[in-house]
Amino acid sequence: MKENKNIKGVKIQTFNTRVIILCGFLFVILIYATALLPSRYNALIKDTDQYINFQKDAQMVNDASDYLTEQVRMYVESENIRYMENYFEEVNETKRREKALEELKKCSTDENAKDSLEAAVRSSKDLMKQEIYAMKLVLVADGYDDMESLPEKIRETQLTTSDAVLKPEEMKEKARKIVFSEEYENSKEQIYSYLSGYVDNITGRIKIQQEKSVKSLGDILVFQRIFIILLFTVSILTFVVITKLIVKPLSMHIRNIRENIPLEVTGSYECKYLALTYNEIYEQNAAREQMLLQKAEYDSLTGLLNRGAFEEIKKLLKENPFPIALAVIDIDKFKDVNDQNGHETGDEVLKTVASYLKQSFRSCDYVIRLGGDEFVVIITNIKSENQQAIRRKFVNINKILKKSEDIIPQVSISVGIAFSLNGYTDDLFGKADTMLYEAKNNGRSGCRIYGER
Ligand code: GH3
Ligand code: MG
Repeated sequence: MKENKNIKGVKIQTFNTRVIILCGFLFVILIYATALLPSRYNALIKDTDQYINFQKDAQMVNDASDYLTEQVRMYVESENIRYMENYFEEVNETKRREKALEELKKCSTDENAKDSLEAAVRSSKDLMKQEIYAMKLVLVADGYDDMESLPEKIRETQLTTSDAVLKPEEMKEKARKIVFSEEYENSKEQIYSYLSGYVDNITGRIKIQQEKSVKSLGDILVFQRIFIILLFTVSILTFVVITKLIVKPLSMHIRNIRENIPLEVTGSYECKYLALTYNEIYEQNAAREQMLLQKAEYDSLTGLLNRGAFEEIKKLLKENPFPIALAVIDIDKFKDVNDQNGHETGDEVLKTVASYLKQSFRSCDYVIRLGGDEFVVIITNIKSENQQAIRRKFVNINKILKKSEDIIPQVSISVGIAFSLNGYTDDLFGKADTMLYEAKNNGRSGCRIYGER
């Protein structure tokens, strides 16, 4: 399209390019933010799993430790070997405490935390030595003779020389003192405290990581929401611009073109350009039409345009590709009118028919007397839907002619109509004339439209 610098207005082409670039940019950012979501989400899940497992392991260490205490105390109290077996089954086979401690160790990165855990492990081993010593005291006191069948740890444990000489009851009393003493409880408390120091340190770290992941996930979601709102706003803006600058002006243009009036220069640059171009052609045509009508020849009897004018109008309409209708009209049995009432009365009939035709159509339509009792009406600015409106006009003329008996002898007209979407075409008259012929053959006083069943 050739640029017209005098037209001010938003260029839809430029607007479109900018909207596409903006939407593309927003879209890429949105896709990027969406792509980040799974990794942030997985990090959060991992942190949460780690937190849960860590708490579970810490609980397991405590449970296993309490279990050992319970078993050793039960053994010392009841001297039932089953409790000692339970104790060593936990220490040598189930190993809940050891396994959980291993798991807890894996989470540690901080040196202070590591020290805490190692202190807990050391204290726990010391406590175990005391527990095993207490059990050995009971075994020796009971004079247990199958020492070889007992676990290695208990076999290896040697009583001190002072304890070895104690009486059995004294040995048992000492064993009870060891596992029920305040010192024993304090050692256990100490282990709990080392362990909870470690647990607090690691869970604190995991919590911070979790909070970071939650924040990062939240940030991405907020970011996404903002960009979706922006994309939606751009869509609404585009809708408003298209409606205001294109759709509305275009529907106004269509209405004006149908009414054959100049277009309003409004809307986008392209719509204004269209209006200015159309108006230029419209004015040129109007000027030519004006000139033609000024020079046109008129029929002296009826005052309508004559055949010469018809030829000029045809030329004008050939250049303007707008929808038109062409109607060819002929008075029925006009020879009889002349014969029965004289030529002068015939002339009156011609004038009356001419005036009815003129009255029935608009100023933008052309009413022409071709010669004899034959007329042509060219209807311009038509819409396809008013085919029937045109037919009704001719039917109405016949009704009026019927009632005009007191002015002129009764006559009727036959009409053939053809439509064109592209101005005057060479075959248009032929089509309308064929329809007129059909109307005549069909009993006259009727109207036939080309292409209609
Ligand atoms: P149809 O229904 O088939 O049209 O029959 P018609 O009798 O009307 O036949 P046609 O249209 O051929 O006849 C036209 C007649 O119009 C022939 C001629 O005598 C008459 N005529 C032609 N010019 C004039 C005119 O200026 N004044 C008068 N009074 N009669 C005219
Ligand atoms: Mg006739």
